[in-house]
Amino acid sequence: MKALVYHGPGQKSLDERPVPEIQHPTDAIVKISKTTICGTDLHILKGDVATCAPGRILGHEGTGIIEKAGSGVTSFRAGDRVLISCISACGRCDYCRRGMTSHCANGGWILGNQIDGTQAEYVRIPHADTSLYPIPVDADEEALVMLSDILPTGFECGVLNGKVAPGSIVAIVGAGPIGLAALLTAQFYTPAEIIMIDLDENRLAVARQFGATSTINAASADPVAEILRLTGNRGVDTAIEAVGVPASFITCENIIAPGGTIANIGVHGVKVDLHLEKLWSQNVTITTRLVDTMTTPMLLKTVQAKKLDPRQLITHHFTLGTILDAYETFGHAATTQALKVIISV
Ligand SMILES: [Zn+2]
Ligand SMILES: [Zn+2]
Repeated sequence: MKALVYHGPGQKSLDERPVPEIQHPTDAIVKISKTTICGTDLHILKGDVATCAPGRILGHEGTGIIEKAGSGVTSFRAGDRVLISCISACGRCDYCRRGMTSHCANGGWILGNQIDGTQAEYVRIPHADTSLYPIPVDADEEALVMLSDILPTGFECGVLNGKVAPGSIVAIVGAGPIGLAALLTAQFYTPAEIIMIDLDENRLAVARQFGATSTINAASADPVAEILRLTGNRGVDTAIEAVGVPASFITCENIIAPGGTIANIGVHGVKVDLHLEKLWSQNVTITTRLVDTMTTPMLLKTVQAKKLDPRQLITHHFTLGTILDAYETFGHAATTQALKVIISV
């Protein structure tokens, strides 16, 4: 089969690889229909993710059809259409039982990281019963690819951890796919204002279309001064960090109102200064999280009920044969205006 393989920092190619086999009775082999590229895949290619070894097939998002189910899989059988979660969860360990499947002792975020991923014709999914979701008959499969990772990530790590509430003021630093996913799902809670901050005017225009009440271009304005001006010097109740660089986290520290919550989503590669000399008396909460995907079934229902339209995040289409072009397009989002790319297999 064809597969996109990571060969060490800066190196990837579309290779011929054997079709994966069932290794444990709880595994399923899924024939991929649709997959996509995540910002995290770009981090892997930069060499930022030490757990991902050269030779690994990348990808942790997608949909497909069960090709083979192991003898221990009871919820799915060959021919079932499934949504693949970026988190593989055994459902039995201490962490899984606490709902913290991202830290599953027998899984977690391993797909396209510690085991071969979804940017291929077939993938082996461990703990299939608790890591796959059935796709409703009339579902828009491309839209559902957004539920493998980015929508639950934006929602759980940003909106839920950030305690977005009716009437509250929310700022989201970073209008990439994850920041936009947080923007879409924050609206479940009818906050009074959602202010998006980014350096890219196109992404800010998309954010306004998606429901941002105001936008700040940090390339031309000081986001802290602008937010203080917009909020009458009060700051925001929720500041969601959706970039993963020191400057954006420090912006969150500088705009958070007393009693507010800073919810970090970004993948940070270097240390960030924590200004406790300012924050110690401000009753603020700072949260971090890796997505658990516990909200995927709920998000699936909201998509099916047309309360949420994740298809809006899809800007480009490719095939597995042209996945290297897809990486080029996704990797140069400032010029290509790419958000999420769909790769049909
Ligand atoms: Zn991802
Ligand atoms: Zn577990």
